[in-house]
Amino acid sequence: MEEYEQLLNEYATKVFYEGLDIQDFKEMKRIIYRLDDITQNLKAKLKKYQFGLKNYGLACTEHGRLLTSREDLKPLRQELDDYLQLQLDFFSLTLGFEKNALYIRPTEFVKRNTSLIHLVYTNNQSPRIYKSAYDRFSFCCQFHVDRHPSMEVVDHEQQFHCYGCGISGDAIQYLQEYENISSPSAIHLLKEIYLIDMEDKDIRYQHPLVQKYRKSLLSPEFSALLTVGKTRAETLPDCYRKRYALMKYQQTFRSIERVQEKETIYYKDNLPKQKVYRLPFPNFD
Ligand SMILES: [Zn+2]
Repeated sequence: MEEYEQLLNEYATKVFYEGLDIQDFKEMKRIIYRLDDITQNLKAKLKKYQFGLKNYGLACTEHGRLLTSREDLKPLRQELDDYLQLQLDFFSLTLGFEKNALYIRPTEFVKRNTSLIHLVYTNNQSPRIYKSAYDRFSFCCQFHVDRHPSMEVVDHEQQFHCYGCGISGDAIQYLQEYENISSPSAIHLLKEIYLIDMEDKDIRYQHPLVQKYRKSLLSPEFSALLTVGKTRAETLPDCYRKRYALMKYQQTFRSIERVQEKETIYYKDNLPKQKVYRLPFPNFD
């Protein structure tokens, strides 16, 4: 039972972050068949015991235990219900697969592996940052003169919006606007900052822009900011927002770790002191 629950969690996380491939789909179908066997088995047992109780007033389990009342069937019924629920959950995951999760767009994949809070935090000039209960952060707007934080960033929705000047968008649009670059350049920049789909050899030469964002990603101040947000999210009652906010925080902490790990390998050990800059991004303007 627990083993299946764990599998379900793993697949649900995978659906959210990466999408499933055909291999996962086949594996989940196999699990559903296995669960079906289990539930059929349990149903047959239950039927047999019920028959015995009804006609003879008692039934005997395969382990030799005597059942004398309907109350004794309760644990078995509960087990059956749990397995049926599991089966249903797996089934709805595969249903999502067939409908839309077969293919996750590369831009979507990049966005899911980035942190909008981090990007905005890097360019933040004002000491005023407001944090609300989960992963909503308010910064002073970077696109108009703003004294009170009026630009809200919702990380799990991957959106920013300014209540002052009306500018809004996702991580790619933010970089486009702020750094004044094209959309393919912004995607490329994100991949470099968070080391998404990068070959090890690609990460040795860093554009100055990458270095700027990388530096703030690894700064203790940013980690502190995240930790406060995460702690607040944890105190929320169980709800959709809490789950996604926490998943998003987890993702950001993971990318920090990923970058940290590579930085140690490539900057401390393998690289000469003088850094070689990579040529401008393709389509960089
Ligand atoms: Zn604004």
